[in-house]
Amino acid sequence: MELIFLGTSAGVPTRTRNVTAMLLNLQHPTRAGLWLFDCGEGTQHQMLHTAFHPGKLDKIFITHLHGDHLFGLPGLLCSRSMAGNVQPLQIYGPKGIREFVETTLRLSGSWTDYPLTIEEVTPGLVVVDGLRKVTAYPLSHPVECYGYRIEEHDKPGALNAAALKAQGIPAGPLFQQLKEGKTVTLPDGRIVNGADYLAPAESGKKLAIFGDTAPCPASLELAQNVDLLVHEATLEQAMEEKANSRGHSSTRQAAQLAADAGAKKLVITHLSSRYDEQGGLSMLAECKTYFSQTTLAEDFAVVHI
Ligand SMILES: [Zn+2]
Ligand SMILES: [Zn+2]
Repeated sequence: MELIFLGTSAGVPTRTRNVTAMLLNLQHPTRAGLWLFDCGEGTQHQMLHTAFHPGKLDKIFITHLHGDHLFGLPGLLCSRSMAGNVQPLQIYGPKGIREFVETTLRLSGSWTDYPLTIEEVTPGLVVVDGLRKVTAYPLSHPVECYGYRIEEHDKPGALNAAALKAQGIPAGPLFQQLKEGKTVTLPDGRIVNGADYLAPAESGKKLAIFGDTAPCPASLELAQNVDLLVHEATLEQAMEEKANSRGHSSTRQAAQLAADAGAKKLVITHLSSRYDEQGGLSMLAECKTYFSQTTLAEDFAVVHI
């Protein structure tokens, strides 16, 4: 998987940072997919600077309905249609997302030529398929807001076919049962336990993408042991009280969460527009005192997971 940051500014865009959006390129050989998390104004313009086209998107997850996470959606949906894309698209977001999309399309005389499904999420499982699942966690913000935890299922370990053949066990339907870890009885009466011939399971990658939030009870579970934690750090540590009073987090709080949750890596994003490049570097330095594996998101940065 790779995550591409399309916008990393809080509230308003700056010359170097657009408002929030992230692309998750799932890069699976048989079940590839392109998911968008949040869609601030100008997201489709930002996508023009990447190798990805909105037509390739198959799912969009919105964390909350604040404009800096949402106002790019109608334009992107319409452009996707005008380009002749017919691939279905699913949108997930808090209550009100359906009304927002349907109303903006209707009032502007717009439509989509592709099947569009809109699902209003509640805390819990949002998407599950044979490879991965997405769970929504409620955050603490002035409007209903979610963080999304994306988890690949663990991959079963490979079957040691050579060892089985060396035991005189023929390849065939038996191998499938052994691969599932089952115990089978051979025609000659021998009992073979598949678990004895399986490599350890490979744990799936885990990723947590937070929406805007002050520290809250769900954060720890959402971020627990993830390979990558994406968290807002709207303000510096000295302005923590102000950040929290508006439903946001400070650098220290984002980094402390990464440490407490056992995350492998933290990327901080959603920086207030008050910070220039130097300010951003100070924010990063603050985080690193609590969690060394922190990086600062920049527009178009790519993080491999
Ligand atoms: Zn925001
Ligand atoms: Zn917000």
